[in-house]
Amino acid sequence: MPNLKFQEQLKLLHEFQQIDAEILRLDNRLKSVPLKIKKADEQFQIHQQKLEEKQAQLADTEKLQRTKTAELEMEGEQRNKYQSQLREVKTNKEYEALDKEISFIQEKEAEIEDAILTAMERIDQLNEELAQQQKNFEAEQEKLEAQKTEYAREAKDLKAEIVKWQGKQQSFSDQIDSGLINQYQAQFKRHRRGLVSLVVENACGNCHLTIPPQTLQEARKYEKPIHCGSCRLILYIPSPSPDDAPAEESTPGSD
Ligand SMILES: [Zn+2]
Repeated sequence: MPNLKFQEQLKLLHEFQQIDAEILRLDNRLKSVPLKIKKADEQFQIHQQKLEEKQAQLADTEKLQRTKTAELEMEGEQRNKYQSQLREVKTNKEYEALDKEISFIQEKEAEIEDAILTAMERIDQLNEELAQQQKNFEAEQEKLEAQKTEYAREAKDLKAEIVKWQGKQQSFSDQIDSGLINQYQAQFKRHRRGLVSLVVENACGNCHLTIPPQTLQEARKYEKPIHCGSCRLILYIPSPSPDDAPAEESTPGSD
C-alpha cells in the first residue's frame, strides 16, 4: 500500500469508479450514434423509394403513349390501304365490305386517340407530382446531411469528454494501491460494478441496506476492508470534515 492511509485509498478508488461509470455512460451514448445514423439513412430511403416509384410511373405512362401512337400509325396505314382499294372495287358488295372495314378501323383509331389523350394528361399530372416530390426529396436530403453533421459533432464531443475523464482518472490512479485497482478493474470488467460503496446516511450507497452500528464502527477504523452485508462492496465512510467529503455527493457528518 502506498503511503496514503486506507480511507484515502477508498476515497480515491470511489472517485476512480465513479469516473468509470461516467465513461461507460458516455461510451454507450457514443455507440448509439452509428445506430442513429443508420436509422436516419433508412428513413431517407423511403423518400428515395417514393421518388423512384413516381419516376417509374412516368416512364410507364410515356411508354404507353409511344405504344398507342405507334398503334394509331399502323391503323392509319391500314385505313389508307383500304381507302385506295375502295377506288378500284368493281361491285357494290366489295365496296360495302371495305367500307365496313374502314369504319371499324376509324372506331379503333378514335379509341386509341382517347387513350393517347388520357396518357398525355396523366403524364402532365405525373410531371407535376414528380417536381413536388423532387423538391421534398431535396429538402429531406438536406435535413439528412444536417442531421449527420450533428451526429458527427455529437460523437466528437463524446470522444473528447471521454478523453477528458480518462485524463482525470490517470492523474490520480498511481496514488491508489495497484492491488486494489486490479481487484476493482477485474470486478468492473466482469460485473460492470464498483468495488467501493459510499456510505450515505448510514446506508450502503450501492444497495441501500442500512449498515449495523457495529459494522459502521469497524468500517470507520479503516484497518481492513469492511464489506456491506448485502452487496459485499467495501464500505467507504467519508470523514466528517468538509475538506474530505467527496464533491459529487453530499454526506452528512457522523461521529
Ligand atoms: Zn451494499
